Amino acid sequence: MSQGTSTVHVSCYCGKYVANVIVNADSTIQKIPCHCTSCRRWTGGLYVYRLPTTQEPLGIQRLTEYRVTPLSTKYFCPDCGSHIFGKTGQKWGVSPGVVDGEELQPSVEIVGHEFVEDTGDGGFTSWLTHWGGKELPRWKGEAHESELLPPEWPSADDNQRNQDTEDDKLWAGCHCGGVAFYITHPNEASRQPRRAPFPELMVPGDKAENPEGQTWWLQAGGTKYLAGLCTCRSCCKATGFDIQAWAFVPECNVFQPNGEPLDVNAGTLKKRYSEKIDGAYRCFCGTCGATVFWGSDNRDGVVDISVGLFKGKGARVEDWLVFGKRVSYVQEATNKKLVQELGRHFTITGWPKA
Ligand SMILES: [Zn+2]
Ligand SMILES: [Zn+2]
Ligand SMILES: [Zn+2]
Ligand SMILES: [Zn+2]
Repeated sequence: MSQGTSTVHVSCYCGKYVANVIVNADSTIQKIPCHCTSCRRWTGGLYVYRLPTTQEPLGIQRLTEYRVTPLSTKYFCPDCGSHIFGKTGQKWGVSPGVVDGEELQPSVEIVGHEFVEDTGDGGFTSWLTHWGGKELPRWKGEAHESELLPPEWPSADDNQRNQDTEDDKLWAGCHCGGVAFYITHPNEASRQPRRAPFPELMVPGDKAENPEGQTWWLQAGGTKYLAGLCTCRSCCKATGFDIQAWAFVPECNVFQPNGEPLDVNAGTLKKRYSEKIDGAYRCFCGTCGATVFWGSDNRDGVVDISVGLFKGKGARVEDWLVFGKRVSYVQEATNKKLVQELGRHFTITGWPKA
């Protein structure tokens, strides 16, 4: 294990918060991501870990504070929702997604997964099974303090039970409860052709037009929605973490709790337009900071929803979603080792260069 410290430059998605932060590691740091339900709800992502810092960061009062538990507090940008810092007891940590640079430094070595039982289906651990050739242990609860889950968990039977559902609504919501909505199964309206470019997940490279209005968001014979992993810089900055999982759902299948159509300004939602992509916006919860939606005024009625917010059977909600085989924008990923490891289960194109 390395000793010493290193100084990293951090900035949020909108760029309003910038700071130099001293991390307690000089080259490599070992981490065990947490997959608990609470972490998925306050981020919208599928797991959480942070890099330990030596002291309380400067300018923390400029960030919004959210108390997850009496012992655990996190701090996000009030203007863009980037999760920047967390404090557990007296220990501070910085989120990996806001660290600037071509490659995450100090580099992270994932050495296991904790609170995996909460996922029901293994969540992200089913894709991040190894690191540096070693199979990763998965703890039911706290790392080293709880039982290890066998590699075959969840069994085919468990999975079958997870998928065997007759629910006609899939609820979603953030940790604080300020954002709540549900989606319905694909129907006639979802099958209407739309002016919605293909996501990078399906067609590598930007601006993949869809002149025929193909219904790419529908999968499994039109019974499920497409979902996918993104490592673009904007997703990393906006969430604070090194990867984001999105589900692509027609807006006509998204409803507010009272049955009214989707409103991306409802409740505690905050909407922020991109400075780089014309018409594109992201929405997050102004109270707990959860990343909620990505959308665009130039895309006809399909919205991206953070998979971590779904309250389905299993963190990957595969009775509703089909995950694309490719990870998008890997060339922008800062955690390049993570991308490399995901190559066991996904197609990685565009990086690393052959
Ligand atoms: Zn910001
Ligand atoms: Zn957690
Ligand atoms: Zn992205
Ligand atoms: Zn919230």
